[in-house]
Amino acid sequence: MSISKNLIALKASLPKEVTLVAVSKTKPVAAILEAYNAEQRIFGENKVQEMVCKYEELPKDIKWHMIGHLQRNKIKHMAHFVDLIHGVDHYKTLIEINKQAKKHHRIIRCLLQVKIAAEETKFGLDVSSIESILQTKALEELTNIKIVGFMAMASFTNNKAQIATEFSKLKTFFNYIKNTKKKNVVLKTLSIGMSSDYKIAIENDSTMIRVGAAIFGNRN
Ligand SMILES: *Cc1c(COP(=O)(O)O)cnc(C)c1O
Repeated sequence: MSISKNLIALKASLPKEVTLVAVSKTKPVAAILEAYNAEQRIFGENKVQEMVCKYEELPKDIKWHMIGHLQRNKIKHMAHFVDLIHGVDHYKTLIEINKQAKKHHRIIRCLLQVKIAAEETKFGLDVSSIESILQTKALEELTNIKIVGFMAMASFTNNKAQIATEFSKLKTFFNYIKNTKKKNVVLKTLSIGMSSDYKIAIENDSTMIRVGAAIFGNRN
């Protein structure tokens, strides 16, 4: 199947309220343009430098999402255009995003990354760290960021029951905390689900899926 056919079939299968991020990391500009010509406008990248190069080459109505782990010293390179930063897992990162966003007179939307996987290697904040960030008084002074929800990755496993349990726990936590009211916190987005597990994610209230291989084919 071609990129555009994959994309159109996938979109047709999604509930209306689920936003699709087409994960184009490692894929060439030509592949992104094919998806763009099939009306896809949101693309996800996991390396800042690669995203900046693609941003410069491609149409300016593309919304670029940073989905990878963030190095704080690289935020400045994408602060003038990034639409949503998915993987925020430190309060200090929010401070840096705010500082860089301010320079460009922007408000940058962020998702806090929640650790839900059993493995030790995954990045992310545990539930109590999320609560303490959301309760931090000084958070309201970061007027150039907006925390709009959470992002998470399930364990890397074929065990669908385990993945479902991890997403379901996150859904429960999200529903419990989503009414938190602060000037720059509006928790509406739950970014869960990739090629192998987006159906399970949607069953657990995902509002945003990040799909690469199922659109663009496997990466080398
Ligand atoms: C690569 C990546 C994806 C997409 O994975 P696929 O299996 O290609 O759909 C989603 N989220 C993150 C954070 C990624 O790094």
